[in-house]
Amino acid sequence: MSESVKDSVDAAVVDKYGRPLRSLRLSVTDRCNLRCKYCMPEQDYVWLPREDVLTHEEMAGLTGYFTDLGVDRVRLTGGEPLLRRNLPRLIRLLLQNRRVTDIALTTNGILLAEQAEALYEAGLDRVTVSLDTLRPERFRQLTRRDEYERVLEGIESVARAGFTGLKLDTVAIRGFNDDELVGLIEFGKQVQAEVRFIEYMDVGGANDWSQEQVFSRAEMLTLLSKYYGVIEPMPERGAAPAQRYQLPDGTTFGIIPSTTTPFCATCDRSRVTADGMWYRCLYATTGTDLRKTLRAGASADEMRALLRVGWEGRRDRGAEERKELERDGLRVGRLIGIEKLRENPHLEMHARGG
Ligand code: SAM
Ligand code: SF4
Ligand code: SF4
Repeated sequence: MSESVKDSVDAAVVDKYGRPLRSLRLSVTDRCNLRCKYCMPEQDYVWLPREDVLTHEEMAGLTGYFTDLGVDRVRLTGGEPLLRRNLPRLIRLLLQNRRVTDIALTTNGILLAEQAEALYEAGLDRVTVSLDTLRPERFRQLTRRDEYERVLEGIESVARAGFTGLKLDTVAIRGFNDDELVGLIEFGKQVQAEVRFIEYMDVGGANDWSQEQVFSRAEMLTLLSKYYGVIEPMPERGAAPAQRYQLPDGTTFGIIPSTTTPFCATCDRSRVTADGMWYRCLYATTGTDLRKTLRAGASADEMRALLRVGWEGRRDRGAEERKELERDGLRVGRLIGIEKLRENPHLEMHARGG
């Protein structure tokens, strides 16, 4: 089959709701150097066995099968992706695939200052740093580590290395950082970053989650417009999760209303864990073990067929389903118990990359 014919055939894969497969979140490690309460609240974790973690070559190979089916954007995440040895090498391998048009990184920023230049030289397109507070004491309380200064150094290093379009992701939590939204937008202006506020989600072991702590998009907009004046929504960009807004002075920011206004209807994302489990939804409790099939010597056609069948059977709309449970009063306590999480670490947010 000629390349151009194959391109059009493969790109046609859609799931049960007609959603294409476009974006891949590749978790390169499940380890992390922070312990954010909303993501890793426990003292002890069951880590993925090292021998199960995919090599760079395996990750690039798997990504190739995904791009054959329509993926063109890859986001490197974790755990903390900068803990993975020699990430620039993986980026270079991924970029050998001409269908990968955009590689982004989501990081907590601690190791960014020392790696930003090498990441830029390797061809990384975009960087998102997670930053929930500008108060060192709060940072320590949330993350249980004293790394605030290094995160700031990391953020400052991004532009120096040559990157543009830095994003800062903030999980907005009522009673924790809902008084810092303006401060974070102002900080974003200083470092030429667009801030995106994410509604708190109840993923994996986020056992601190409660509906009361969700600071909703509507509340964020009310609060921000009291300070800034009229806030204009910007035109939507397809399947992008963030809705963008503009302040009167032209500053833009985003809100990801994952909990109150799920965007499952346009969700084109797949997630692969560091050991090659493929999940079609952030909230999925079952996935496909791609490592096993890959290491058993499956051919390229077999791998593509596995992905195609998996995506064509996809009915996931996890956030919408959770919202329906809430609405009907059927949600009682934690959705996934700690014992189940210990048995299957893949269910944790830090394993599947947020
Ligand atoms: N360690 C990296 C970091 O923190 O940027 C990448 C992995 S982290 C799991 C990816 C993103 O998920 C982060 O921006 C984090 O704030 C977000 N996240 C984790 N738990 C969350 C939760 N319960 N609700 C909303 N966002 C969450
Ligand atoms: Fe925090 Fe990211 Fe680590 Fe989770 S993976 S504990 S969000 S730094
Ligand atoms: Fe996509 Fe699942 Fe998130 Fe809905 S809940 S937007 S289907 S990842």
